[in-house]
Amino acid sequence: MKKTDTLVIGSGPGGYVAAIRLAQLGKSVVIAEREDLGGVCLNWGCIPSKALIHAASTLERTRHGAEIGVKADKVTFDMKAFQAFKAGVVSKLTGGVGTLLKSYKVEVLRGQAKFTGPKTAEVAGSRGSETVEFAHCIIATGAKTIEIPGFAFDGKNVIGAKGALALEEVPARMVVIGGGVIGLELGTAYAKLGTKVTVLEALDQLLPGLDPTLVKIVEKGLRKRGVEWHVKAKAKGYKAGGDGLEVEAETEKGALKVACDRILVAVGFRPITDVLDLAKAGVKTNERGFVATDRACRTNVPHIFAIGDVSGPPFLAHKASREGQVAAAVIAGHPEEKDFVTPGAIFTDPEIATVGLSEAEAEKAGIAVKVGKFAFVANGRALSMNETDGFVKVVSDAKNDVLLGVQAVGPEVSNLISEAALAIEMGASAEDLALTVHPHPTLSETIMEAAEAVYGKSIHGVNR
Ligand code: NAD
Repeated sequence: MKKTDTLVIGSGPGGYVAAIRLAQLGKSVVIAEREDLGGVCLNWGCIPSKALIHAASTLERTRHGAEIGVKADKVTFDMKAFQAFKAGVVSKLTGGVGTLLKSYKVEVLRGQAKFTGPKTAEVAGSRGSETVEFAHCIIATGAKTIEIPGFAFDGKNVIGAKGALALEEVPARMVVIGGGVIGLELGTAYAKLGTKVTVLEALDQLLPGLDPTLVKIVEKGLRKRGVEWHVKAKAKGYKAGGDGLEVEAETEKGALKVACDRILVAVGFRPITDVLDLAKAGVKTNERGFVATDRACRTNVPHIFAIGDVSGPPFLAHKASREGQVAAAVIAGHPEEKDFVTPGAIFTDPEIATVGLSEAEAEKAGIAVKVGKFAFVANGRALSMNETDGFVKVVSDAKNDVLLGVQAVGPEVSNLISEAALAIEMGASAEDLALTVHPHPTLSETIMEAAEAVYGKSIHGVNR
């Protein structure tokens, strides 16, 4: 029997961050992990997908370099070399997590954990199983890819995001089921690598739920790269034949058949709770299957916490990490709670980044807003990069000018959005953003100009 103050189950960006913070706060920690350290994010999600997206964008920029005077003949892409690069990036990061945990004296138990009581768990690994007795526990088991009927993952014809990042050759044709975040990020990357991509989305727009004016700019990018998409299209099944695979979908216009060589299914995630034996600890899930928590990340059992994907959307690594820090602080006796804005970034081309409330969300909440918008086409840096599609939109409270949200679509907006997140955290006004001097020539000036546009005072934009 091993005794610890806190058992953390899962070592993704929620679990490993919680473990480190707990150790910093003087707690003894055991972390249980059944796969490699780092979770989905480091092993087959955020990081490897960004490597693929970067490689694909580099290839595309080089191929289209002639427009800006860079001419390169016979540019090719070597998938095997890419896979080696990607593996190196992943092992540096996962190795780094191992080193950090070791330096904080966090004990890593390799194996699958399940509760055997409210204060005990069993961790079963290849070398046998061990019982851990804990004073506190943090469930950070994450979420896994949903499979749909007719499209069982077989690692060959039908793959998920994990499989799509492990391919050894670039497929000639790919059907992507699900026009959400993964479908469009990976679909765009493969289109850049030369794959003919067709996206089937069940709902009535790509990236459902997002402001359609942002999505329209992403659609322009997809069209430019030859990506086809069908909305209100529900994939029903597929068959293998002489010309590869044929996916059948039901659409408003009738049955649709699309030929392809690989099928990428990206229809969402569901929480990983099935292996935990939650009932033995008395932990409850909500009606959607997520572990129910309060603002302190506490479950219905006061000494057991849950963070990240397993406790509900949004499924974002940075949300999991911050919740890990909150849970660790609460366990160490500090009065913290989940009180933060969560920015989001989607790595399509161009990228989308958002934080806080959109105009529609604010109006739905009964808040009268003022809005300022600035287009990248009027930004000198964007023009000099030859990447001018997109805009930044600033939403402020009409009553007192307090910044409510920023939505952006355009080059590097994933890097620009943190300024807006800080402004919201600080309770800043749109005027504060407008009065902050931004270095020239940078893409960040678009945020300043969009804030100026709230008052009809953008210098380089046409004010509404
Ligand atoms: P998602 O929820 O973003 O998109 C899934 C899409 O599939 C939805 O648009 C849905 O309407 C559609 N769909 C569902 N069933 C379908 C069917 N039978 N036929 C056609 N379409 C169908 O999910 P995802 O892309 O799988 O990503 C999983 C999670 O990971 C998401 O919550 C996502 O936000 C998160 N994630 C975030 C990032 C990022 O923030 N950059 C990157 C990757 C993943």
